[in-house]
Amino acid sequence: MINITDKHKCCGCTACVSVCPKDCISMLEDNEGFLYPVVDSVKCIDCSLCEKVCPVLHPLKNESEPLVFAAINNDESIRMQSSSGGIFTLLAEYVIDRGGVVFGACFDRDWNVVHDYTETKEGLAKFRGSKYVQSNVGNSFIQVKTFLDAGREVLFSGTPCQVAGLKNYLRKPYLNLLTVDLVCHGVPSPYIWRKYLQETVCRVYGIKKNKSVVNLCDYISDISFRAKDRGWKKYNVKVIYRNGKVEMMPYFENPYMNVFLSDLSLRQSCYACPAKLHNVQSDITLADFWGVDEVYPDIYDDKGCGLLFIHSKEKLDFLFRMNCRLLHQKLDIVVNYNPNILRSVNEPINRKFFWAVYCSQNLQVSYLITISKFVFMRIIRSIFRCL
Ligand SMILES: Cc1cc2nc3c(=O)[nH]c(=O)nc-3n(C[C@H](O)[C@H](O)[C@H](O)COP(=O)(O)OP(=O)(O)OC[C@H]3O[C@@H](n4cnc5c(N)ncnc54)[C@H](O)[C@@H]3O)c2cc1C
Ligand code: SF4
Ligand code: SF4
Ligand code: SF4
Repeated sequence: MINITDKHKCCGCTACVSVCPKDCISMLEDNEGFLYPVVDSVKCIDCSLCEKVCPVLHPLKNESEPLVFAAINNDESIRMQSSSGGIFTLLAEYVIDRGGVVFGACFDRDWNVVHDYTETKEGLAKFRGSKYVQSNVGNSFIQVKTFLDAGREVLFSGTPCQVAGLKNYLRKPYLNLLTVDLVCHGVPSPYIWRKYLQETVCRVYGIKKNKSVVNLCDYISDISFRAKDRGWKKYNVKVIYRNGKVEMMPYFENPYMNVFLSDLSLRQSCYACPAKLHNVQSDITLADFWGVDEVYPDIYDDKGCGLLFIHSKEKLDFLFRMNCRLLHQKLDIVVNYNPNILRSVNEPINRKFFWAVYCSQNLQVSYLITISKFVFMRIIRSIFRCL
């Protein structure tokens, strides 16, 4: 049976929970707010299915070289609502037009990030845009299988490890399944996200800091991690409050994004990712084409340019009929601008220190203390080296 002793070795995909014939695995939150499987050993019959489907214990190889394209949706409005080139919506609309179902990550009522599905084009809006929080997959894998077995076309989108987990759980290829993942930096803690939103709401509404805000939906009406109002490269975190206030903060000034991009708040499996390019199990991977301004200055307009990696070449045809511009790219060139395609980020040496400080301080203060300690230690080390 699954027994997590090293948190680097569980990406939280839920394949084990979904496959268990005795329904005896629950996903429980740890002290960092990430979900891990815990087995009820009294009900367990030792069938080992949970271990067999785990994408960390049994990662599959991806031997094929992907076809890579720069990709821009011709619909300006959809592109502006999306994080990069707006290609996810085109793929999803293709499946909806054929009577299919689309799964993706969205906010729930209280701004937690969860997986859900839709059968309509209007329903796709909630999936648009990157949410920099690990999504709770819930029972999506079981729902996907039910739709597939009923003969419906399904698009499942998520992080590469979620797609790898789904493929392992399904245990056979389905012609009616299209899987789309993302080049993934890593996923931050849902606990930090919840606490950050609480701090933000207290500040904006002048609520006492020690008072817990229960229904965040009563205070916040919209959130975008990647608002392009002031451009794609220098994107802003945008929060619209129910009192009419709109806050736009460049990502490099936002404490939540600072902690995320310093890799302090990531799930531990993201430092040893089981689903980078050579293990990717999706049909299509989407990403930002950072560097497009240098490679293709003539198409660069700072409204977002995506990358499209095609791993299943037999599913190529419809892509060329989509309402978008596609420009063929060389893998080694785009990797130069986006190392997360191939490599996991390094685990920061000050990660434990950050979490210890965060027990008693708010996010901004914890970040500043952690970074200051790091800089201080480097200065001391360089002084000793000079002596
Ligand atoms: C946590 C995270 C880290 C990323 N890291 C990188 C990176 O390092 N480099 C890079 O080039 N691109 C990264 N991306 C992907 C990139 O930002 C764009 O999402 C991607 O290029 C698709 O953009 P789009 O404009 O086509 O569609 P959009 O409409 O912007 O994307 C929507 C898609 O993202 C999925 N999605 C959104 N949030 C989540 C989530 N929390 N978990 C799972 N799926 C989610 C939705 O299900 C949907 O499929 C990351 C995305 C996420 C969510
Ligand atoms: S060994 Fe079988 S019964 Fe036990 S937890 Fe794993 S899948 Fe469930
Ligand atoms: S990686 Fe997925 S399948 Fe493996 S133990 Fe974690 S949740 Fe279960
Ligand atoms: S970095 Fe890897 S392990 Fe972490 S969420 Fe992304 S795909 Fe999963």
